[in-house]
Amino acid sequence: MIELIVFDIDDTLYSEYDYVVSGFRAVHNYLSSIYGNKDYFNKFLYAFNQGTRQNIFNLVLNDQNIQFDVSVINKLVGIYRAHTPKISLKKDITVLLERISTDGKILAVISDGYLQSQQKKIEALKLCKYFNEIYLTDELGREYWKPNTYYFEKCQSDFEKKPENIVYLGDNWGKDFLPANKLGWFTIGIKSDHNTHINYQVSDEYAPKMFFYSTGTAIRYLIDNGYIIK
Ligand SMILES: [Mg+2]
Repeated sequence: MIELIVFDIDDTLYSEYDYVVSGFRAVHNYLSSIYGNKDYFNKFLYAFNQGTRQNIFNLVLNDQNIQFDVSVINKLVGIYRAHTPKISLKKDITVLLERISTDGKILAVISDGYLQSQQKKIEALKLCKYFNEIYLTDELGREYWKPNTYYFEKCQSDFEKKPENIVYLGDNWGKDFLPANKLGWFTIGIKSDHNTHINYQVSDEYAPKMFFYSTGTAIRYLIDNGYIIK
């Protein structure tokens, strides 16, 4: 029986693409106020949709013939990471989280990512309403990001649960499941529409025990099969 359900945030509880869109809008608004209103937003999104992940701001500023140096780029990255995102939990997830927390299950989050950005996402998604504990690995620094097992061990001992009573749900085959697998937790992968960059061909220790195409479906599976609620 599962007693502690632990989630990743990005592309597990909400679509990270929505965060990217929201961040590009914030940077677009800033650039428009300084350099005049041009088509920054669509250019950012076009580059992102083409698969570009590095230097998108440099590319677009060059394209728009705007002179810049590294301090301008740092400013834009800062705006992106500090912006208050327009993101939300999917409705089916909200309903399911309410249902399992009402049933007395413990809900937690273990998430990587820049601390300030993750804190803004947590506020926007109102995660404190649903989760007993939220562990942000960046609080201790980059080396504590997954696949480091530190926060997984901490979560397990904080709630005094046995590994066989814990499940971790994430979307990144490269780092999310290794620490949970090492500790003997059950692991579930979510293959979402936008994480096509993730390589699903990994060795067993990195792979989830099961995968689904949406988090709502995964939780419903756990409920319907008596893993969470009997
Ligand atoms: Mg993720």
